[in-house]
Amino acid sequence: MKTKIVFSEKCLNYGGWHIEGPTRVKMAHEFLKEKDYEFLEPTPASEEDVLKVHDVDYIWNLKKGLVEDSDTPAYDNIYEHARLSAGGAILAAEINGFSIMRPPGHHAGRRGAALGAYTRGFCYLNNIAIAVKAMGKPALILDVDGHHGNGTQEIFQGDEKVVYVSLHRYPYYPGTGAYSEGNCLNFPLPVDCGEIRYLETLDRALGMVDTGKFEVVAVSAGFDNHVGDLASLGLTENSYREIGKRIAALDKPVFFVLEGGYVGEQNGKDIDQLLKGYEERT
Ligand SMILES: [Zn+2]
Repeated sequence: MKTKIVFSEKCLNYGGWHIEGPTRVKMAHEFLKEKDYEFLEPTPASEEDVLKVHDVDYIWNLKKGLVEDSDTPAYDNIYEHARLSAGGAILAAEINGFSIMRPPGHHAGRRGAALGAYTRGFCYLNNIAIAVKAMGKPALILDVDGHHGNGTQEIFQGDEKVVYVSLHRYPYYPGTGAYSEGNCLNFPLPVDCGEIRYLETLDRALGMVDTGKFEVVAVSAGFDNHVGDLASLGLTENSYREIGKRIAALDKPVFFVLEGGYVGEQNGKDIDQLLKGYEERT
């Protein structure tokens, strides 16, 4: 069955000047529309769901626009935009779909910047963490964005219901993820390491996970490790197809949440290939 895409035009209404801007999602949406995907409109995450992940003081500051840093602007109504993106992740979890909503989330920790990072890296609320907590099921979070999801690690460090696996460029922003810690398995990779090394590492990483322990796979789907993008690991469209096959081989319910990926023309193609690889096995 073809995976449904979660999307709302509302996520295109802010931040036109920033690298994490509407174009990256707008172009992905246009490409996927041509490929006959079905789209579903999300509703905002409830404050109750948000507060299962984030501290009340941080949310208060986010509502007031008091959380600007050098990467992450305090746009008007950013709390509402972030809540809708988190709602997209929750809907994706409910329907085993793919949320292409923005802003992204995996750098956002409980109180903002996580594990000593100096910014929140374009993130406000941790969408995938909010969806995983809302489901309440034992989960494998697989983070294939080119950056380490320091926010996600901070939130789930020591959580017996969650295993977090991340492959990412290192040394690089946010400066975390150099080694594994407990339930957080980190696989640092050098710049432009290429598809062969990436897939070998992914196979090794997934081989270390006890699949009997979780009921759902939550994928932080970032595409900034595509060759030439912000955190390039030298991957191509074909690499995402191969990643999709490996996700399907886990043989669990899966949902996907967009993280990075800053070349608009490329994001739609990469998402399509990831889902093609995933669906080949389902
Ligand atoms: Zn990234």
